[in-house]
Amino acid sequence: MKSKVILLRYGEIFLKGRNKSYFEKLLIDNIKAKLDGIKCEFLRTQNRYYIEDYDEELTDEIVRRMKEVFGLHSLSVATKVRTDYDSINEAALEYAPDVETTFRVSVNRADKSLDKNSAQIGADVGAYILQRRKGYKVNLHRPALEIKVDIREKGYSYVFSGVEECAQGMPVGCSGKGMLLLSGGFDSPVAGYRMARRGMELCAVHYHSFPYTSEQAKQKVVDLAQVLTRYAGKIKLFVVPFTEIQFAIHEKCRADYMITIMRRIMIDIAERVARSNGCGALITGESLGQVASQTLQSLTVTNDAVQGLPVFRPLIGMDKYEIMQTAEKIGTYKLSELPYQDCCTVFLPKNPVIKPSLDIAKKEQAKIDGLEALVEQAISNIEIIELKPEN
Ligand code: ATP
Ligand code: MG
Repeated sequence: MKSKVILLRYGEIFLKGRNKSYFEKLLIDNIKAKLDGIKCEFLRTQNRYYIEDYDEELTDEIVRRMKEVFGLHSLSVATKVRTDYDSINEAALEYAPDVETTFRVSVNRADKSLDKNSAQIGADVGAYILQRRKGYKVNLHRPALEIKVDIREKGYSYVFSGVEECAQGMPVGCSGKGMLLLSGGFDSPVAGYRMARRGMELCAVHYHSFPYTSEQAKQKVVDLAQVLTRYAGKIKLFVVPFTEIQFAIHEKCRADYMITIMRRIMIDIAERVARSNGCGALITGESLGQVASQTLQSLTVTNDAVQGLPVFRPLIGMDKYEIMQTAEKIGTYKLSELPYQDCCTVFLPKNPVIKPSLDIAKKEQAKIDGLEALVEQAISNIEIIELKPEN
């Protein structure tokens, strides 16, 4: 008997203390949801999980999926054998490529019924490998290759080498739900990813100025949200018709304050939709100083339009380059790169104010008569798109 298994390790921080079982249950539910459609066994030991009894051709697919689960720390693809010394030796040899290297065999023995202790077994497996691999040298302190043998109870052992990093973070669902202001740019999808990584479930709101922005621009945002479901699970996307409000701003307000006022209205609508959908926070992709609407003064004036929910800006201290790298890593880059215009870019002035004053912004905004009615109308005409992970 010999088969491949995937060994999962979870982050330790959140599993300490009284809430351990709560976090763990969430994590396990999320892992199982990710394994949807794959026939396998999921086993749980004291501090690890194992995925076993699956079609070995699906190993890479399962590994890919597990790397999208927040709360997992690392994984290893291992070989499961019956606990007898020959099988362990043979399995270990498979993890020893035929190139010159220093190595060590580390043994962890939960099964205390064996006649040898861990150190002896390690030495024996090491000797077995040394006889068959020229150019191998034992180095117990800093080996280039470490082969691990984990001898479990019930007569099974796991042999592996190497550890692949997972996404880290906290299991989605443990930190409540956030409303992501999702545009078609590079930043906001990354912001959503970052907060999901801290355990937040996501809803998303997008402002769409049809026909000034195209159907493709909306589809791009739907596609971006769909990518985010890989990490965050189900996402409810609210598409808010924003054209009339943009017209009103355009018609009534000072050109250099148009973006400032648009931002204030966007965040106001987002908060209302958030509250009526159980979201406890707003999330934006703002990064300090990136554009005129993201200076300290601009952020202050935008923030003033929020009644009480916290606004999370996980990218606030990140450079554009780092944001782009993350976008690449999480799979949103190629979509964000598509050229369709966002609603913000349609009605925009050439020279937006860099240091807006709150007083002026409020006065300009007050010039839009019937704004409340426009906002309520936009909210009542929201299109809701429910997205779920496709795996
Ligand atoms: P992004 O790359 O996310 O579009 P950006 O650098 O283009 O960000 P802005 O256009 O100034 O920055 O937008 C700042 C934030 O406001 C965005 O990160 C997003 O959270 C929100 N936002 C902007 N436009 C929209 C929109 N059309 N719908 C929803 N949210 C938006
Ligand atoms: Mg944008």
